[in-house]
Amino acid sequence: MTDKRGSNELTASAKELARRHGAVLVGVAPLERFDPMPPLYDAVPSGHHPRDYLPDARSVISIAQPLMNPVVDAPAVLATRELEMIPEHVRYPYFEALYGEVGHLVQDYMLEFIAQIIGQHLMGLGSEAMIFPTTGLHPHVEGMTDLDIWEGPPRPGAEKFSPFRYTFGPFSHRHAATRSGLGEFGYSNVVLTREFGPRQRFNSIITDAELVPDPLVTEPICLRCGLCQKACIMECITMRDDPAVRDYRSVETVDREAIFIDTPAKTDPTLCRRRREGRPDSPVRGDCVRVCPVGGRSKQLPERLRQIIDAWESER
Ligand code: SF4
Ligand code: SF4
Repeated sequence: MTDKRGSNELTASAKELARRHGAVLVGVAPLERFDPMPPLYDAVPSGHHPRDYLPDARSVISIAQPLMNPVVDAPAVLATRELEMIPEHVRYPYFEALYGEVGHLVQDYMLEFIAQIIGQHLMGLGSEAMIFPTTGLHPHVEGMTDLDIWEGPPRPGAEKFSPFRYTFGPFSHRHAATRSGLGEFGYSNVVLTREFGPRQRFNSIITDAELVPDPLVTEPICLRCGLCQKACIMECITMRDDPAVRDYRSVETVDREAIFIDTPAKTDPTLCRRRREGRPDSPVRGDCVRVCPVGGRSKQLPERLRQIIDAWESER
């Protein structure tokens, strides 16, 4: 058992190391916060609890890197313009790829790198640590197509499919982030922080070291404005108490006054992923993030999102 002073020093050194290597937000959650918590009392699915990876786990460190505003917004704006070097039919995949590289891959790799550095540090001081990929896993399974892996909803005669599908991450960094006091879930099913709104990516490190926890968020961060759900042309984000969209994530009531330690909303990943099939005019992914007013208003937005925000502002 680490004494209080040792625990303070270890926490400070791990946080300093994370920041020095590029984490901008760092928080610590004690293990008790992974027990079901009010108001939604969601239980961690089996195989995804910190103790599933490290039986003596005591703390989870959550780290985040922001997405720069032009990285999020410019691809969406440029995909709607006529451009000299990019013919129209290539614009959408081109800018999706740009966003995927500098709005996903960079942070994914860097956060994994930072997690490894923190894990090594803890290990060197006699503690165990478990680290994770930043995003979901896409396993190859014999007898299943890529589509099965992605979508796999239960349907008659297809009992081999899981209702959770198969591309989830091995550990929820979003749930670790809210439990580490870094932020709150929004109606978008994305975690919002005061600093960057929904514009960051998270990763987590599980350790058996006893670290000093950070306080949970006590004031709402999500404005409950609903712009994220309005902006989604696929209508794939719904509240978990929406009686029209029932599934394993449904709950009777979402208390809109409570802090969203667990998510109040759910996203249909199949609809989101297939947005181009459903709507050939669909924008570069991320409108639910782009439109969110938390974290500062963006300087450049596609016209459709600007109109949604202007209408909301004029009604306030
Ligand atoms: S990325 Fe686009 S399609 Fe997917 S949930 Fe967000 S707004 Fe909807
Ligand atoms: S757009 Fe509004 S409701 Fe949606 S996450 Fe942001 S603040 Fe919350």
